Amino acid sequence: MITADKEKKTIVLKGIGVSPGVVTGKAYLFDRLEAQISFYKLDDPSLVSKEIKRYRNALRESERQLQGVKNKLRHLEGVETLHILDVHITILKDKKFINQTLGHIKEMNVNAEWAVRMTIDKYREIFEKMEDEYLRGRFSDIQYVGQRILGNLAGKKRAPITEIGEGVIIIAADLSPADTAQMKIDKVLAFGTDIGGKTSHTAIVARSLEIPAVVGLESITRAVHTNDDIIIDGSAGLVIVNPDPEVLRRYEDKRKHFLDARQISLTDATLPAVTKDGFRVEIACNIEFVEEIPSAVIHGAEGIGLYRTEFIYINREQLPTEEEHLSFYRQVVGAAGLSWATIRTFDLGGDKFFSDPKLAKEMNPQMGLRAIRFCLKEIELFKIQLRAIIRASAYGKVRVLFPMISGLEEIREAKRIFYEVKEGLLAEGVRLGDRMEIGVMVEVPSAVVIADELAKEVDFFSIGTNDLIQYALAIDRINDRVTYLYEPLHPAVLRLIERVAKIGHEAGIKVAMCGEMAGDPSYTLILLGLGLDELSMNPLAIPRVKKIIRGSNMEEGKELLKKVMAFQLAVDIRQFVEGYMQERFPEEFPVNGQ
Ligand code: PEP
Ligand code: MG
Repeated sequence: MITADKEKKTIVLKGIGVSPGVVTGKAYLFDRLEAQISFYKLDDPSLVSKEIKRYRNALRESERQLQGVKNKLRHLEGVETLHILDVHITILKDKKFINQTLGHIKEMNVNAEWAVRMTIDKYREIFEKMEDEYLRGRFSDIQYVGQRILGNLAGKKRAPITEIGEGVIIIAADLSPADTAQMKIDKVLAFGTDIGGKTSHTAIVARSLEIPAVVGLESITRAVHTNDDIIIDGSAGLVIVNPDPEVLRRYEDKRKHFLDARQISLTDATLPAVTKDGFRVEIACNIEFVEEIPSAVIHGAEGIGLYRTEFIYINREQLPTEEEHLSFYRQVVGAAGLSWATIRTFDLGGDKFFSDPKLAKEMNPQMGLRAIRFCLKEIELFKIQLRAIIRASAYGKVRVLFPMISGLEEIREAKRIFYEVKEGLLAEGVRLGDRMEIGVMVEVPSAVVIADELAKEVDFFSIGTNDLIQYALAIDRINDRVTYLYEPLHPAVLRLIERVAKIGHEAGIKVAMCGEMAGDPSYTLILLGLGLDELSMNPLAIPRVKKIIRGSNMEEGKELLKKVMAFQLAVDIRQFVEGYMQERFPEEFPVNGQ
């Protein structure tokens, strides 16, 4: 677990996720040689022969180094790596490659570094025109060789990667097989590189090591310093540098989910979640970034049940414009394979992104000016987001969700502003969809108490157990010292959820759950017994939850719920539920936790 340094700015970079998984850790910047290399013209023709000699020496030294790496690795099974090293040695000896560079030195009177660079650029031109993605990707071999020659011309050696300390995330412009082959690979948690594609060596190596990697980040080597806290999400192709504590917490969760779900087959993931007795539960996905949409679809989500739009606000000098908001919402709403998108208006404030200077530091941020309270204070900001959400309805089914509603006044005011914005758009002649629904997050205990009144105001409830448990049990959800008290199976929590489900259904509205509890398969049968209409969770949890639903009966869920509700102590409920699920789904809940 790493702790974020609040003084440093959070930076989010998007690249190509080439090896899945999530890792949080410290960055290790693998130095860029090119920045230290000089290019110059040879003023005196007599210098040409000296320069040629220098070039030939660098070629010899490069070959000697690569042979050395190869010899060291002979005993390893890494056939792929050895093969790549051979390819590099062949390029080094390639007459065309050598002669082109010699030609540049002789004819243009440039130093060897410049000449090598020109040769590489020429090859780049040729490779970029290739249609085959794999062949195009092979340009990286020439680039690695060129970089090695340049390094030897400069007489500089790369940082000895073998000295890397415990568990680091390697950040580099690019990594050659020789680089990765020399790393103490068990100390490498993930890779992030400026350049590269799906078939680049960093990608191949990362996949074979089963560690996350994001390539094609363009500027990561400029954004990161060694020892910076960093998150690599190889599934979504994202890198977050100096993450906010809230972001870090979420990604720690994602990492755990990923590790849990790795073994799960995706074969049945897209089948609907229908119980044996025909009860259908809609399964949706929670996302923070639009890059997670493909993962949601692959894992079997039918819609997006929670888009945490506050993530749009990270890493910005200026607030997002309406058009920027819309560009994100269009992607979520119009995503192929998804039938609806629940866009939650931003839940800023509290523990979320207090690095934003607009937000004052609060003594007790969890109960401070956050979410809907903040929106209703900063109405102009709120309206910009609402305009974009409403405009996105032209592209598919949108459900707008208001967070942290604690009383009727808030939802009525939020709706008033919503309709005012909508009328305004209609008056402007903007094309809108007619399938918008309005919902509230039920995550403050007072909302549970007045659920009957709230139900008259909205089309759906979405139960946010993360906050609901925090407020109901008075446990700070990010305080490690009280996590042992954070218990979704606490009888009080179960009664609160039961009340919301019952009242929602009596009022004829849909009841969803989007807190973490929805994605934990140990609770699936209980949630089934509660008759929840939609469960929204992280993508990796979907296949398992769906599998349990498909293997169950609604009646069974109801019976389990009845038994559970009769217990007085949370610990008894937990023991009973865990025992029941282990017996009922031995494959999903192996006794030794393996
Ligand atoms: C929740 O509180 O359960 C929830 C889903 O919202 P968040 O985790 O973003 O506060
Ligand atoms: Mg919440």
